[in-house]
Amino acid sequence: MNVADSEEMAMHLMSCGHTETGDMKSADIILVNTCSVREHPENSALSFLGRIKPLKRKNPELKVIFAGCVAQRLKDVIKKRFPAVDLVIGAKDIGKFPEIIGRELANWRIGELASSKALPIRQSSSSPIHDVSSFVTITRGCENFCSYCIVPYVRGREFSLPASGIVNEIKILAGKGVKEVTLLGQNVNSYIDGSGLAVRSSEKRQSSKALDFADLLSEVNKIEGIERIRFISSHPKDFSDKLIDAVAGLQKVCEHVHLPIQSGSDRILAAMNRKYGVAKYMSIVEKLRNKVKDISITSDILVGFPGETEADFKNTLDAVKQAGFDSLFAFKYSPRPGTLAASLKDNVPLETKESRLQRVLHAANTVAMNTNAKLAGTLQEVLIDAREDDGHSGRTRTNKKVFLKNARLSLGSTVTARIVGTKISTLIGETAEGLCGI
Ligand code: SAH
Ligand code: SF4
Repeated sequence: MNVADSEEMAMHLMSCGHTETGDMKSADIILVNTCSVREHPENSALSFLGRIKPLKRKNPELKVIFAGCVAQRLKDVIKKRFPAVDLVIGAKDIGKFPEIIGRELANWRIGELASSKALPIRQSSSSPIHDVSSFVTITRGCENFCSYCIVPYVRGREFSLPASGIVNEIKILAGKGVKEVTLLGQNVNSYIDGSGLAVRSSEKRQSSKALDFADLLSEVNKIEGIERIRFISSHPKDFSDKLIDAVAGLQKVCEHVHLPIQSGSDRILAAMNRKYGVAKYMSIVEKLRNKVKDISITSDILVGFPGETEADFKNTLDAVKQAGFDSLFAFKYSPRPGTLAASLKDNVPLETKESRLQRVLHAANTVAMNTNAKLAGTLQEVLIDAREDDGHSGRTRTNKKVFLKNARLSLGSTVTARIVGTKISTLIGETAEGLCGI
């Protein structure tokens, strides 16, 4: 989500005539986008601001924009604590970035002429930074209020963007040569189309005619030029049979679902306010595996939630094995101010959190290594999306990264690769031309 927001903002600055520089020292504007979902990225963002201070001292004309979730959470104190910051744009205001920045650029006298011609953010974001694959935001905010999570507070209530705008945006992307889109939201499968305006999902759910997420997938599936459709993240409580059928039946929708489980203990899931239990989660996994051949399923897990016992954690280890995740993001719980869980005693010691993190990652890696080993010798359709020192890389439909030593491949092409080597998170392939991977 943050990568997509950063791209939207960068794209808008580019439509105002700015160019990206790889060298921070030569920049006229530094835009810092931030994440506050855990304590660690929040601290990193703040210490990054400390590193910018000397640049500002050397070049007082430098403008620093502090954006995103940390900006939202600390908007009243940032400028006081970090006088180097010129502009604070909280996550809730990112949709208004063009308006806000247009005003400021004129004040700052940087790119003011170009800014008057700037496009609204939805259109300006239609020229992708990555020309093979692009993110497309379909919902903003979240209203699930998982007890550990700060997102609903810093990003606000959930809104679905109009399907017509989403489809148009993807058509423009396809026209520019984009082959793959990833539909983005904190909980994409609660998507409900409005009547042309961004709508709060909970208010629109009553209307039976409104397009839901499965319908949206089927609309995107019709767009010529788009070869692959992905989406992230899905919430198990909203993963309907209709959506499972859409993933199974729509040709362009890739065989990969990211479905965060968070914990394998029903007691902890209830305390997290996740609104599903392990049995419900596993029933979705089973249906997906039955209906979608070779589907890969990835997940998020949070260890050390207040009150998590060794028995709860063992259930999580069992769930990892039972679900057979292809890859896993695991995090140590950190209390976030204002959330319900922040009022509970953070009573799992840091060493226990650390050791549970390592244990769950080890279990997940073992599962992933065994699953990937079975791919040796198979043929996979790989969309080439990056150049590497020693060739190219791309992704399978199941979202596994494949390295190919072949230097003659072109970005955006789809090749059939034979898998000749497998690791925990990557595959090594060779193409028909007979060149083998690294
Ligand atoms: N909307 C997505 C998750 C977005 S946040 C979903 O519901 O799946 C990404 C991940 O950060 C979460 O899945 C969770 O595992 C982790 N996370 C969220 N709050 C956290 C906290 N307070 N401490 C540690 N990890 C957290
Ligand atoms: Fe946070 Fe839960 Fe919303 Fe995901 S669904 S963003 S974890 S509140």
